[in-house]
Amino acid sequence: MNDILNRKTKIDVKTMDQIPAGAVILKLISGSMDLPLKKAGDFIIEKAAEETTVTFYAGEKLNADSWRAAGGKMAGWLKSVTPETAWLDLAEITEKPARANLLEGILLGAFEFDRYKKENSGGKDAVLAVPSIFAALVEERRVVCEAVNMARDWAHEPASVINPETLSERIKLLAETYGLKCRVLEEQELVQMGAGAITAVGQGSKTPSRMIVLEYAGTKKTKPVVLVGKAITFDSGGYSIKPSDSMVGMKYDKCGAMAVLGVMRAAAELRYETPIVGVICAAENMLSEKSYRPDDILHTLSGLTVEVISTDAEGRLVLADGLTYAQQQFEPAALIDLATLTGGCVVAYGHVRAGVLSNNTDLFESLFESGEKTWERIWRLPHDDDYAELIKSPDADIKNSGGRWGSPVTGGIFLKQFVKDEVPWAHLDIAGVADSDKASAYSVPGATGFGVRLLLDWLKTR
Ligand code: MN
Ligand code: ZN
Repeated sequence: MNDILNRKTKIDVKTMDQIPAGAVILKLISGSMDLPLKKAGDFIIEKAAEETTVTFYAGEKLNADSWRAAGGKMAGWLKSVTPETAWLDLAEITEKPARANLLEGILLGAFEFDRYKKENSGGKDAVLAVPSIFAALVEERRVVCEAVNMARDWAHEPASVINPETLSERIKLLAETYGLKCRVLEEQELVQMGAGAITAVGQGSKTPSRMIVLEYAGTKKTKPVVLVGKAITFDSGGYSIKPSDSMVGMKYDKCGAMAVLGVMRAAAELRYETPIVGVICAAENMLSEKSYRPDDILHTLSGLTVEVISTDAEGRLVLADGLTYAQQQFEPAALIDLATLTGGCVVAYGHVRAGVLSNNTDLFESLFESGEKTWERIWRLPHDDDYAELIKSPDADIKNSGGRWGSPVTGGIFLKQFVKDEVPWAHLDIAGVADSDKASAYSVPGATGFGVRLLLDWLKTR
């Protein structure tokens, strides 16, 4: 079970008082160079009688992500060469954010999802030592990156391992370990309560829907920030079935919730001031004779009825009940939902920025700032009421699809129908950034853990 919460990564970062004997020395340089280092991430190895030095190049023009990217490259080298020990003198890097970012890149770059690979068994790990004076910084970054890596690890698990039921078991374990309050609302309870949208989405599956509520008390007595996460543990599309090519990777349709779990884990471990509530909306969108259908009219927890146009627009349905529950049970200082919601958001923003629809400019701007800092970048979507026209339904209050045009916006506008105007709210559509076919400087292909670092930074600085 411990392996579930604390995935051992390939690099063991330690603090030491002096350079360990025989250690490979890692160095980092930037700016314009005479050395044969052309692009960021290039490195040269120099062997002298006593020691070996590997110098990495962070690039000529640096941006807010350069040090993190350099750390990722270092991690890649450490993972492939696995030296007995390596030494990185962080004191040579004079700016504090640069040091933190470099460490972050290394710790995130250390992640692999190799649990099911034969070659994984018995491989040795690299040890990276840094000076002891940075122990606190290492510890803090380790907590954050372990949370990101857990979010990635769980996201990678296929639907044969993680379904709404096994997910709630994992969350209970997480809650126990980190001192969070946890309540699992099972299908029957959800039906009785009137949450007819989240239960409809999961009714075709062998493992029915669950809403899982986590509470971190915080160290300050204030209203909580409530985070709502979409956890579709597999999205077949339902009767509005996806073409087989688009169905591959649908285990990642739970990434919004995985980010919420990562945030709560790290915030609890770092003793954040702000109380945080996490509402996980879990369902598996499957086909069977019990599945919900197009044309069905659902009764949501809010009282609004929704006509189903597409059973593949299921994320907004589970979130509708999650957002309502969040406002009924808590008094959110801010309400933020994260979801791999629309393919349209990927069409619009690609794999670079998440789309954000918000009813509150201050909230959006503070999130934007944290995004630039953590390089989990966002961009605002419009939220004009005109778009609500597109989700009017002839037979119910609203319908769950507004068609192709402006689909990331109508997805967000749909959710807006379930949020009180006076509650500062932001919807993060992370469909384009939650997972990637390609590796980035500090992420292997697959889940990126997007949102964990962004929200932790935002919660800390708000
Ligand atoms: Mn879908
Ligand atoms: Zn989905």
